[in-house]
Order: sequence, then structure tokens, then C-alpha cells
Amino acid sequence: MRALVLSDIHGNLEALTAVLNAAGQWDALWNLGDLVGYGASPNQVVETVRPLATMTVRGNHDRICCGLTSTRNFNPLARASAKWTMQELSAENLEWLRGLPQGPLQPERSSEDEARVTLAHGSPLNEDHYIQNMRDAWAPLQQMATAIAFVGHTHVQCGFAQKDHDWYELRPRYPSRTGSQMWRLPIAAEVRYLINPGAVGQPRDFDWRAAFAIYDSEAREVVYHRVPYDVARAQARIRKAKLPERLAARLREGR
Ligand code: ZN
Repeated sequence: MRALVLSDIHGNLEALTAVLNAAGQWDALWNLGDLVGYGASPNQVVETVRPLATMTVRGNHDRICCGLTSTRNFNPLARASAKWTMQELSAENLEWLRGLPQGPLQPERSSEDEARVTLAHGSPLNEDHYIQNMRDAWAPLQQMATAIAFVGHTHVQCGFAQKDHDWYELRPRYPSRTGSQMWRLPIAAEVRYLINPGAVGQPRDFDWRAAFAIYDSEAREVVYHRVPYDVARAQARIRKAKLPERLAARLREGR
């Protein structure tokens, strides 16, 4: 079973389109949340992902942009885009966002011998927690219900692995920041993994390319990917919508 794992699309239709074109064939699409907020195409993103996603976990921006939580804890940039997004979203898409389930979730397995996995936006222990380093990863690695969990939220493509007292951080390395590239992670038995596929629509790891991952349960591997996309067009949409300029500029910087 091949699962396409996406997170933090953030209303970036151009990045999403490039990812779907690059992903090839897959059996399941697991979406880790934050479909909307920041980017200028929230309706198109929701309408593209909705029929394709096997499972979607809500993100903090999804929750706030559909009015379930106030924008009080958001910084001014996030707040401005959340207000714009809320007005831009159709009634039907707002309703769908309001109904998204909170993580952690466990997708159905396609066969009995397939490992169970967990999907969460922030952490399997708390949807709003950021897992940025091993210190953040330690408690969820001990306490999560499955050996593999996929998380997003930080917009940084990475992973954390732990076996008994040994642990290590996974940082995909690519030879350059041009073209499409991939980085393979074999999944070992008796190791626990937190896997962050990175952000499709607003990467913050100094690589502007759209990020995603493919989990292959038979090959027992996770393949991290980066793909270029039409960033100029995504930026033009943000400027046309009169969203803050920083939201356009940061896409090119990948931060
Ligand atoms: Zn996000």
C-alpha cells in the first residue's frame, strides 16, 4: 500500500498541483491538516483535496479559519490571512472544515499484516504542539499508540526515530534546491518513528520547493520528496488578494 502524505498546503494551489503531478500512483491520501490560511486559493485547495483524501486531520488554521477557535493566539500575519480566508471560503467549504476530525487518527489498514500508523497535525499527544527537536519528540515517541506517526505543523521536513535508549533525528539531504529530488528512509522493525513530510504550501526549512512524503508499507520505506512549483503564480495570487506582502515573499525564501 502506497500512501501519499501531505501536510500544510495552506491555500497554495500551485504547490498542491505540482505535488499531485509528481506523486504518481497511490492507494491512500493522508492529509495532516492546515489546508487553508496564508495562501490565496483556499476554496480550490479544499475542493481538490476533499474528493481525493482518504483521511484528513484538522489543523489549527483549519479550525480558526472556519470560526471554531478565535484568532487571539495568532500573530498579525496569521490573523490577517485567517480573516481573509474566512470571508473567501464558500459556505460549503466552511462547513466541511468545521466537520474535520481532531487527531490523532488511525487509518484503516488494507491488510491484517500491515502496520498501524497514526496521523496528527501537531503531535499525537496534542494537535497544537510543535515537534521541532528530539526533546519535543521524546514523549510522543514513548506514548503514541503505533510505531509510526505522521505529523505536520512545523513546516519543516524531518523525522525522529527511537529504539530503546537510542534515538536519532532524520533530516532529508538533497544535493541542491533545484529540480525534483527524493530521500529514502528504510523503516526498521522495533524502531518508533515520527515522520514530518514537510509543508506542501509554505515550507520553512529554507528550501522553497513543495514537500511531501510517500509511505510504502510493503517496501517498508518512507520516501521524502521536494518538487519545484510555479511560485511566481502563487505569489501573484497573494498580491492580487491584497494579503500581506510577507506571505508572498516568504514562499521564495522557504521560511
Ligand atoms: Zn501550518
